[in-house]
Amino acid sequence: MFRSLVLRGLALVLVSGLPAARALETELPNEAATHLSTLGRAPDWSELDQYQSTITHDEFVHLLDFVYATHGYSGDLIKVEAEEARILTKDGTEDYFVLQFAKSPSDRLPLVHWGSAPDKLPRATGDKPLAGFHIALDPGHLGGEWAKMEERWFKIGEAAPVREGDLTLRVAQMLKPRLESLGAKVSLVRNNSEPTTPYRPSDFEEIARRLLQEAGIADPRENFDGPADPEKEKTIAWQRELLFYRNSEIRRRASLVNYQLQPDLVLCLHFNAEPWGDPNDPTLSEKNHLHLLVNGSYLPNEIELDDERCEMLHKLLSRSFPEELAMAEAMATTMAKATGLPPYRYKTENVTSIGATGYVYARNLMATRLYRCPTVYLEPYVMNSEEVFERVKAGDYEGLKLIAGKKRPSIFREYVDGVVEGLMAYFKDTRPLR
Ligand SMILES: [Zn+2]
Repeated sequence: MFRSLVLRGLALVLVSGLPAARALETELPNEAATHLSTLGRAPDWSELDQYQSTITHDEFVHLLDFVYATHGYSGDLIKVEAEEARILTKDGTEDYFVLQFAKSPSDRLPLVHWGSAPDKLPRATGDKPLAGFHIALDPGHLGGEWAKMEERWFKIGEAAPVREGDLTLRVAQMLKPRLESLGAKVSLVRNNSEPTTPYRPSDFEEIARRLLQEAGIADPRENFDGPADPEKEKTIAWQRELLFYRNSEIRRRASLVNYQLQPDLVLCLHFNAEPWGDPNDPTLSEKNHLHLLVNGSYLPNEIELDDERCEMLHKLLSRSFPEELAMAEAMATTMAKATGLPPYRYKTENVTSIGATGYVYARNLMATRLYRCPTVYLEPYVMNSEEVFERVKAGDYEGLKLIAGKKRPSIFREYVDGVVEGLMAYFKDTRPLR
C-alpha cells in the first residue's frame, strides 16, 4: 500500500520554529537519517547493556524465531554465535552491539524488571487481587473534533456520529473504577479527546513534503478532496495529518508511558472496523470479530531500521512476552465468552498467530513496540457491523435490552466485563493469595 511505501524508513529533516523541548521528549528528531523510521531517533544501544548475561543462547533464538523475527532477518544485522549475539547498531557501519549470553539458565544474571510482575508482588487478599499493580489504559485515537481527520468517524442518518476515539475513552473511564475496586492503580494515557502531542499537522509540512519526494511524488498536490479522494495519500495535507495523529501522537504517548507513568501493564483499547467507504454513507458489514495483539512479527524491512531493531531487542530482552501472551490469552478467553465473537483472521502477512486460543497475534504496531512495559492491544467489535452500530446507538444502560434481535448488555459493560474477568483469571493463576 502507498502509505507504508511512503512512511517506511525515510529521512527526516530539521523542523524549525517548533515549541522548545518540555519535560518529556518533545523535540522532533533533527538528524537526517535514512535508516530510522519516520520521526524515529537514533537509538542508544548502551541501554541494552542491562541485559548482558540475562538470557541464554537458546532462549534468545527461540524468542527471535518464534515471536519477533518470524519473517526472517538478515544475518548482516543480527549474527547469533554460541556465546554472544552481535547486532549491527547503525546501517552502513561495522559497529556492533555485543550481547553476551548466559551459559545456562542457572548462570543467568537477574533481569532488571520493568516494574512489578504479578508473580513477584506480595500475596494479595481475595477482594483486592490487583493490589500494588499499576495499569495504564490507553484509549486508542483522539475522538471528538479530531475523529474526522483520523478517519475514525462515520455517520448514518440522524444517529449521532460514531467516533472510535470517543468509544475507547468511554470504555477506559468505565474500566478505571472497576480495576481500582480490585486494588489496582489505574492511569489514563489520555482523559479527553485532545492530543497529547504538542505538535499539529502544520508542524509536519516540511517532513510530509520530504516523504512524498522520497517516494517519487515529484510535484505533490497540497490538499485532498475529502476521505474518498483516491489520491489523498499523495497530498501534503493528508501526509502531514497522518504524521500528527498517528506517528507523533503515539510517540508522545510512549514518552508519557515510559518516562512519566511507568506502569506495570498498558492496555491499548480499540474497536475494530471493516472498510466503510464514504463516512457520510458508510457500508455496514455483516462481519463482527475479536482479536488481541502483542508486540512481535517484525518484517525484515522493519528490522533493517536502526531504531526498530533496537526497540525489538528491548522488547525481546525485557522478557515481557510471556506476561503479555498469558494476559492476552486470559482476556481473549473471557472476552470471547462475553461477546460470543469469532477470532479475526488476518488476510495480510504482517502478523504471527500465537498462543492457543486463536484470538491472539504478534504484530509490530508502534504502540506495542514503543511502550517498554508489557502491553496488550485489544481489538474487539467491528464498529460498522449492523449489530455493533445498533449497540453503540443504544449507549450504556443497566441490565439487558433487546437489540439487533437479541437481549444484550450494553456494549461498553460487556467490553469492560470481558477485560476485568480476564485480568482476574490471570491474577488468580499467577499471584498467590494471603
Ligand atoms: Zn483503533
